[in-house]
Amino acid sequence: MTVMMNTPPAPSSDSATARPSAAERHGVLDMPSLEYTDEVAREMAPLYAKVEKVIPPIEWPFFAPLIKAINELKVKRNAVILAHNYMTPEIYHGVADFVGDSLQLAREAAAADADIIVQAGVHFMAETAKLLNPDKTVLIPDTEAGCSLAESITAADVHRLRREYPGVPIVTYVNTSAAVKAECDICCTSANAVQVVESLGARKVLLVPDRFLAANVNNQTDVEVIPYQPGRCEVHERFTAEELNDYRAAHEGLKIIAHPECTPDVLKAADYAGSTSGMIKWVQDNAPEKVMMVTECSMSDNVAVENPGVDFIRPCNLCPYMKKISLGNILDSLVFMKHEVTVDPKIAGPARKAVERMVQLNI
Ligand code: SF4
Repeated sequence: MTVMMNTPPAPSSDSATARPSAAERHGVLDMPSLEYTDEVAREMAPLYAKVEKVIPPIEWPFFAPLIKAINELKVKRNAVILAHNYMTPEIYHGVADFVGDSLQLAREAAAADADIIVQAGVHFMAETAKLLNPDKTVLIPDTEAGCSLAESITAADVHRLRREYPGVPIVTYVNTSAAVKAECDICCTSANAVQVVESLGARKVLLVPDRFLAANVNNQTDVEVIPYQPGRCEVHERFTAEELNDYRAAHEGLKIIAHPECTPDVLKAADYAGSTSGMIKWVQDNAPEKVMMVTECSMSDNVAVENPGVDFIRPCNLCPYMKKISLGNILDSLVFMKHEVTVDPKIAGPARKAVERMVQLNI
């Protein structure tokens, strides 16, 4: 699948709303020096000591000046960077103020004490940050950072489901556009999907759009969870139970932990299933000798930095949308104030309610 097929809606044009652009409101700054001087090398040496196992030395002279410049720009702009667990290590460990899964980032976004939020993640995450911070400027460094799962469903699809299943509540996974959230009753993440479904007190619930998450939740509750068949994550659907069994046979003592966007067969073949934050906690709590994280590639690198005693076996499925975000375009975001993410006020209200209902459950 090409990136273009899944390009998210372009951030709303400020000129279209006759509102001053983010650059006009906040100003444009000078591009900082990106030279790798002795001083930069010295200043950034402690950080490199932390990440040297996952960032080759040949790449560091390129990353170090960018990291230093971004961290200085954040102070000038009173900005914070929210980074998803799938960001590359130089972003995750170098410039992020908050890291986590979608639920943690939504909570951090709600509590963010800054004028500007830069979302190092994909478009629906930036929209969620904007929904929870309507008065703040939210930027996404690349407008093509979409999501195959979020693009699999539209507001019109939710209308159709309402007609097909009258009276059945609709839970939307956070990986959807604001327009879809606005049509649903409550939001969930992979960390709290079972609890959110059960909180509704219904016998049947529709869970959209990820059909594998819906199937996996259905296996953990007495509530009948109805899936939306077209929805799936192109990264997680590629893992197979056979592949997991082959890795297990090749690595004695291997523990396998998987994300619930994988198929039910993959989850059955794993030792543990949970959200990205759940997987990190599992590694910290269990300190396995060898572990394989069945999810996007960069997770293992990021978690390996914090768990030097654990041997990470890395099956690698890259998310092409997450990988649109780089130190270079984060720097451009902060210098030029691009690309601003806005949400149509008509959908922002109901979409915010769906997210806030989830956050208020405090689960
Ligand atoms: S990993 Fe899957 S669900 Fe997450 S952003 Fe990429 S395509 Fe979307």
